[in-house]
Amino acid sequence: MAYEVIIRGGRIINGTGSPWFQGDVAVQGERIVAIGRQITGEAEQVIDATGRYVCPGFIDTHTHSDFSFFIDPTAQSKVRQGVTTEVTGNCGSSAAPWMGAGRRPERTGGFEPTWNTMAEYLDALSAVGKTLNIAPLVGHGTIRSAVVGRENRPPSAEEMAQMERLLRESLRAGAVGMSLGLYFAPGMYATHEELVRLLRIVGEEGKITAAHIRDEGTYTVGFQAAVEEFIRLGEESGCPVHISHIKAHGPEVWGLSTKILELIAKARERGVQVTADQYP
Ligand SMILES: [Zn+2]
Repeated sequence: MAYEVIIRGGRIINGTGSPWFQGDVAVQGERIVAIGRQITGEAEQVIDATGRYVCPGFIDTHTHSDFSFFIDPTAQSKVRQGVTTEVTGNCGSSAAPWMGAGRRPERTGGFEPTWNTMAEYLDALSAVGKTLNIAPLVGHGTIRSAVVGRENRPPSAEEMAQMERLLRESLRAGAVGMSLGLYFAPGMYATHEELVRLLRIVGEEGKITAAHIRDEGTYTVGFQAAVEEFIRLGEESGCPVHISHIKAHGPEVWGLSTKILELIAKARERGVQVTADQYP
C-alpha cells in the first residue's frame, strides 16, 4: 500500500482521553486513512515523529482574533502552537454585525471592514484564504450597540425586536452561538428579560451562549452571584450556557472555586447545560 504521508513512531494521542501509544499515522489527501502500531507500506513523504506527540489540532475556545486574519491570514502564532480551530467573537464583542455604534474601528488593528452583516463578514473571512477553521460567536454587546447604541437603558419594544432579528440572522448565517460581556459596557446594561429573550433564540437555533460573566471577583455583584445569574439565564431560556475563562479573580475570592464548581455540578444535575473553559 502506498500513502501520501506516513507519520512514523510518534506518541499518538487520539483526543478521546485515552493514554498515548506509540504508532504510525497514514494520510491520503485530507484524511487520516490508517492508524496503527506499525503501518506497512510506502509513502511519498515519511515524517519521523520519534519522541514527539501526534494529536488532533487544538481548538482554542476563547479568542479575540475577529480581525486578525485580514491582517495576517497565515496565523503563525496559532499554527505553531498546534491550534487548528478558533472560536472568535468572545466577551460580547464580535466583528459583525458591523452597524451603527457596533462599529469599533479601534478594535480592528488598522483594518477597514467592508461588511455589515454576519453573512458578509463570513464571506470576507472565507475570501482571505486563512489557515485556521473559525467558529465565530456573535457578540451581544455588538448587537446591542448597533441597535440601542452604547447607552445605559433598556431597549424599546421595537429595538428589542430588531436585536432579536439581528441575532437570529447572525446565527443562521453561521455564528455558532452568542457571547455576552456582562462585565463590560454595553453588555452590563442588559435587562434580565432582554437576556432571557435573546438566549431563548440561541437555544431555539440549537446553539450556545458563552459569557464573560458579570463579576469574577468583588467588583460588582460578586463572583458567586455572577455565576448564579448566568446559570439562571440558562435555566430560564433553555439555552446551553458556557462560562468563559472561569476564575476566582483576586485574593478576596480565593478558595471560592470549590463552591462554584459545586454550583455548576448541581445545575447540571437539574439538566441545565453549563460548561466552562479556563486559561491554560
Ligand atoms: Zn472575557
